[in-house]
Amino acid sequence: MAYQSVKGTNDTLPSKSYQWHYIEDIFRKSADLFGYKELRTPIFEKTEVFSRSLGEETDIVGKEMYTFEDKGGDMLTLRPEMTAALVRSVIQHSLANEVSDLRLWYFGPFFRRERAQKGRYRQFHQFGAECISSPNPEADVEVIQLAVEIINRLGIDDYKLLLNSIGNTESRKVYKEELVKYLKSHNDKLSADSRNRLEKNPLRVLDSKDSGDREVVENAPVILDYLDDVSKSHFDQVKNLLDQLGIPYEIEDKLVRGLDYYCHTVFEFQSTALGAQNSFGGGGRYDGLFSQLGGKDTPAVGFAMGVERLLLIVDEIGKMPRPEPDCEFYIVNKSEKNIPVSFKIQDILRRHCKSVISDLQRRSVKGQFKESGKLNAPYTITIHDDYPETGKITLKHFDKGIQEDISLEELENYKFD
Ligand code: ATP
Ligand code: MG
Repeated sequence: MAYQSVKGTNDTLPSKSYQWHYIEDIFRKSADLFGYKELRTPIFEKTEVFSRSLGEETDIVGKEMYTFEDKGGDMLTLRPEMTAALVRSVIQHSLANEVSDLRLWYFGPFFRRERAQKGRYRQFHQFGAECISSPNPEADVEVIQLAVEIINRLGIDDYKLLLNSIGNTESRKVYKEELVKYLKSHNDKLSADSRNRLEKNPLRVLDSKDSGDREVVENAPVILDYLDDVSKSHFDQVKNLLDQLGIPYEIEDKLVRGLDYYCHTVFEFQSTALGAQNSFGGGGRYDGLFSQLGGKDTPAVGFAMGVERLLLIVDEIGKMPRPEPDCEFYIVNKSEKNIPVSFKIQDILRRHCKSVISDLQRRSVKGQFKESGKLNAPYTITIHDDYPETGKITLKHFDKGIQEDISLEELENYKFD
């Protein structure tokens, strides 16, 4: 039997690859407009980079990582997310300092062993951006604004930005005590996972997808009531700036995000076009991560968006652009003896930056015209049997209804628009 791809992984077929180019262009262009530079890191890292930063109790570290021992005995992990790997790289190469902002973006594949379903894969792709070195609320807003720029450029208008603050360490400490008290009083209704987390990382219970947990969480105390003055002021400034920019958001007081290293602002993007996997991106501030990974204390904020889910949304709302024709020119060659002429013509066209295809199957003339139609090429060039005598080829532009006989020299100097 022929092999099948691994469950939860996708091939991007040639008929769809243009959609990836389209969205990647938008990522790159938007990041450019905000002065962000790309950082690329390896697909795998030492396992500790992720286990130390995400926390042992997260689903990612606990259940989803592709971890293996290589032949040298090192424990390695296919990256399940970027922030930890990016921070590792920034520390390693001393890219950050206190006096200047470091603006980074990334795009690439990530790996999590989850239950595969629509919008949830074992290899998936994220675009993300991280703003490093600023502790100030305007950095939070800048990364949100960049995410919104991308969403707008993709034509997605039916989306929600959910916003919350989980405050600084001091605020969270007080809140956590209250939360644990409340959760313990509902211990019997909680899932085993949540009962476990309750001791180690109670905030994660708020993030649980279990329906019993969700019911308990419904009436849990909310972090916003426990923010100290510093945390409150940070959050107010974020909201004010978003208001002034006209970026709509909803306060979601139970939003905490799945990862351990967040503080202050957390946010998530949702779309109704997605169905069950309705979240297509999220992020927040993570001032504690650098020191956790052995670096100097460095404030930072960022987000990640799921590219497969963005593509699903764009397709669902009918905003996916149509593919370009496979080529602009198709050569119809009436005689095998003129194959060298065909190659010469193609060379000329490519020097004019025109894409061109010729038949490699030695099809009949009729077959070649049919193929050209199938490819939707706006131009054909016909090389007639008697080319060696006349020195002329026929250039035909279908939409403009233009047909002219020209020499190769005239083709060289042709004014294409
Ligand atoms: P979810 O709640 O859907 O599991 P998450 O909290 O695990 O999401 P993040 O770690 O914040 O997601 O990743 C950011 C984005 O990456 C998500 O909003 C989603 O669009 C995308 N993403 C995460 N996991 C997957 C996956 N297994 N397959 C496809 N996309 C994913
Ligand atoms: Mg997840």
